[in-house]
Parts: sequence; C-alpha cells; structure tokens
Amino acid sequence: MDIHQADFVGSYPKPGLCPTDRRAEFAFIGRSNVGKSSLINMLCGRKSLAHVSNKPGKTQLLNYYLINEEWYLVDLPGYGYAKRSKKERRGFGKMINGYFLERSEMYCAFVLVDSNIPPQDIDVEFINWLGEHGIPFVLVYTKTDRLNQRTLDENLDKIRNKLLEYWTHLPQEFITSSRTGEGRDEVLTFIENTKQA
Ligand code: GDP
Repeated sequence: MDIHQADFVGSYPKPGLCPTDRRAEFAFIGRSNVGKSSLINMLCGRKSLAHVSNKPGKTQLLNYYLINEEWYLVDLPGYGYAKRSKKERRGFGKMINGYFLERSEMYCAFVLVDSNIPPQDIDVEFINWLGEHGIPFVLVYTKTDRLNQRTLDENLDKIRNKLLEYWTHLPQEFITSSRTGEGRDEVLTFIENTKQA
C-alpha cells in the first residue's frame, strides 16, 4: 500500500466523540518523545502532518487522520510525561484506556518503543495492560538509525527479555527509522493485510 492521501479529520477529547463511520482504525501510541510524530510523517510521506515537537506531552487528544479515504490513522497522546499533574494523568489514562476498550473499529495498536534506551517500566506496564485486555497490538522500535547493529541488537534483546518475564511469546515487531525510512513498507503492508483480514 502507498499513502496517496492523508487528511487531518479532527481531534477528540474522548472516544465517544470520535468519527462514527466505522472505518478501520490503526492507533499509534508510545512514551512522549519516542518518535511518534516523526514516524507518522514518515509513513504518510509528509514533512509535518503530525506535529514534531521538542515539547513532549503536548497532544492530549485523539487525533484522527483519514488515509486514502479508506482507514483512520489515530495519533494518541504520548504517555509518561512527567510534567503532567496527577489529575491530568488520571484523565489521560481514562481517555487512552477508554479508547482501546470502546473502539471496536480499532484493528491494531502500534506501540512505539525507543530502541536506544533500556526497557522502560511504563512501556512494559502499558504493553501488559493491552495484553491483559486482549487488545491487538504490535511493537514498533523507533530511531534504530542511531545505534550500530550490534548495540541495537543487544538493546532490543534486553527489551524482549523484559517482556518475556511476563509473556510466553513476543508480539510481532517492526524495526523502524524515520530518518532512513526503514520499516515503512513493512508497516504499511501489515496495515493493508490486517485491514482486509
Ligand atoms: P513524539 O514526541 O513521540 O511525537 O516524538 P518526535 O517525533 O517529536 O521525535 C522526538 C525527537 O526524536 C525529535 O528530536 C526527533 O527529531 C527525534 N527522532 C524521531 N524519530 C527519529 C529517528 O527515526 N531517528 C533519529 N535519529 N531521530 C529521531
């Protein structure tokens, strides 16, 4: 699949207010600063469809993009932003959990994990929550261009081993870089196949 059209549709504060046309949705989520906006722009072949920013945690809404007039790419707010107040974090958790529990048109979540840093508890907690609730997801390792192959492999193994402390098998994964475009074809082909399944 190639993306020939990507239109911003709207930003919604809760899942009940999101589009009702029942098109397939693919959600993108990860820790603030994981490289989500860059990845979305890379996938869509745009420079600034999603806002790439140095201020993490700014997007606190469910952002919908209509792709090829066919399916929705949903850009969810980054989690784990330390500067949020407790109240903000509670509301945020409720919105994200509500999104995944309520949106039956959500085909698959892409959970972005930074390939450059050791396994983060907050990622593991979120992944475990998805798994426990039977929500379909895959992992997307980001910023893989920053490391040499050996260090990258070592780091990914640390992340995989952390997950294997909780799960008997690992989810499907994609190795990506928004800088080089690595992983783009694989992610788009996966979406194409999943949408039709
Ligand atoms: P978001 O907060 O998750 O949306 O993350 P951004 O897309 O804004 O990226 C956070 C920072 O990581 C920015 O400085 C990006 O330039 C950088 N970044 C994102 N993706 C990549 C990548 O694939 N390779 C490299 N080297 N840097 C990246």
